[in-house]
Amino acid sequence: MEKTNLCGMFVEEIIAAVAPLGLEKYRGRQLAEWIYQRYATDFAGMTNLPMDKRILLEEHFSVESVTLAAQEEAADGTTKYLLALEDGLAVETVLMPHKYGNSVCVSTQVGCGMGCVFCASTLHGVVRNLTVGEILAQVLYVNQMLSIKNEKVDSVVIMGSGEPLANYEQVLNFIRLCHEPYSMNMSYRSFTLSTAGLVPGIDRLAGEGIPVTLAISLHAPSNDVRSRLMPINQTYPIETVFAAADRYASASGRRVTYEYTLIAGINDSEEQAKELARLLKYRLANVNLIPVNPVPERGLFRPEKEKIQRFLQILQAAKITATVRREMGTEIRAACGQLRHKVLNGKSSQRSA
Ligand code: SAH
Repeated sequence: MEKTNLCGMFVEEIIAAVAPLGLEKYRGRQLAEWIYQRYATDFAGMTNLPMDKRILLEEHFSVESVTLAAQEEAADGTTKYLLALEDGLAVETVLMPHKYGNSVCVSTQVGCGMGCVFCASTLHGVVRNLTVGEILAQVLYVNQMLSIKNEKVDSVVIMGSGEPLANYEQVLNFIRLCHEPYSMNMSYRSFTLSTAGLVPGIDRLAGEGIPVTLAISLHAPSNDVRSRLMPINQTYPIETVFAAADRYASASGRRVTYEYTLIAGINDSEEQAKELARLLKYRLANVNLIPVNPVPERGLFRPEKEKIQRFLQILQAAKITATVRREMGTEIRAACGQLRHKVLNGKSSQRSA
């Protein structure tokens, strides 16, 4: 018999699921605390539950978890984990220690269907959506690692492999579940959701009333260049993405972050910087410039340092808040999908795609 997984359920769902085993409501709450606050992955160690109930639970239920398949750590502490899911597929999760706390980057899909030319996650297309439990298990895994140092995950960026708005319900329930007091009690403001620009999803998110930070992968100030980099631009061109981002900004009262991956000779010219400044001048916006992590098979390269600085200066001169993303973990292939890609390529039989 297939066991029912409890990780990813809200407490009310856990209570309902375990009630047939004769477990009272407060037992359901204890289970939620074990899973979401103490990172338990089996029932044996749940010492405040009666032994006979633990045995019963073990027979009928499971707690979704991930296991480490590969790991790379950079000098600055950025650690990339390749985490195996229960079906043997694997996703990447990145821990980024900052002065202001620990940030974790989670994946929402195995692979990605967006087809952006500079991104390694999408080389084999989308394999499948992750469940709430699988997205959450990535945070729980990192929390467990951090608990050794008495630390925890303080913020989550939904910027790993996958397009979060293409897996909308699971991603939203993941955010909501992290927010629950019996879980990690995280504020909505400590979440950043990054999208390639799925306009209907942005509008839906604006209607949820949960003030997460929205990040839009822009990467070019014009439709011709953006369409070359990101096929999704043919469905939702720049002006429709900006309009949706503006609606999100006014609904949430939050500044939108625009990510701009700088690629030598493609989107790094002074004219393009000026055009970007013009587009953002009257918008509530932040720009995050990301020197591209070169993907050898696509022949895309990083601009010279001076060129990056020049691009930044043009934006700043136009009074636009812009930063160049700290070059964390380039040496460990921290860009989307690069570790997974390396591991998959190094195997004689690929486990996915
Ligand atoms: N699908 C979502 C979230 C995942 S990607 C999105 O498109 O926003 C997170 C960010 O990293 C995106 O802005 C993406 O375009 C960027 N990215 C992907 N590959 C990259 C690379 N090789 N170098 C720099 N940035 C990259």
